[in-house]
Amino acid sequence: MRKDSLRQLYVDELKDLYSAETQIVKTLPKLAKASSNAQLRQAFERHLRETSEQVSRLEQIFDMLEEKPTGRKCLGIEGLVKEGSETMQEAYQDSVMDAALIGAAQRVEHYEIAGYGTVRAFAELLGEAEHASLIGQTLEEEKQADQMLTRLAEEINFQAGQSAAEMRESTSKTASRRAA
Ligand code: FE
Ligand code: ZN
Ligand code: FE
Repeated sequence: MRKDSLRQLYVDELKDLYSAETQIVKTLPKLAKASSNAQLRQAFERHLRETSEQVSRLEQIFDMLEEKPTGRKCLGIEGLVKEGSETMQEAYQDSVMDAALIGAAQRVEHYEIAGYGTVRAFAELLGEAEHASLIGQTLEEEKQADQMLTRLAEEINFQAGQSAAEMRESTSKTASRRAA
């Protein structure tokens, strides 16, 4: 069956986001658990609570549309989640792992920001002001989450770099001791 309307695309994209958010709800606790930095862990826990809200905002929109949110799998987020799982299996030391988790999480936030920006534009075009406002709230949370991760990365990346510098230093000390 051919789908000729923007409304059909809009519903499909909303289903994709619903699938994305439900996958993210399952992943955020793992990211929190893998975090060594307390602020990073709290940021993941907080975004988990926001994400549950985001799921219910999408459910509200589906109620208004009299459509079901299920029936589509977000392959983009599935891929990002798989990459994140691989990252968590690496033997990175604490702050390096935290830096890696931030990188994985920011990929997810950027993906969501793109997806919600798209559906908000569709909602506005379709005259769905109430949907657009709900989508706008979620979009704002995703942007805030991304900015929070950028702030946390400043300190965490510095720590991750320092531990590498320390290792280089101790290696060069050993080398100069050997040379002496
Ligand atoms: Fe989200
Ligand atoms: Zn997707
Ligand atoms: Fe998010």
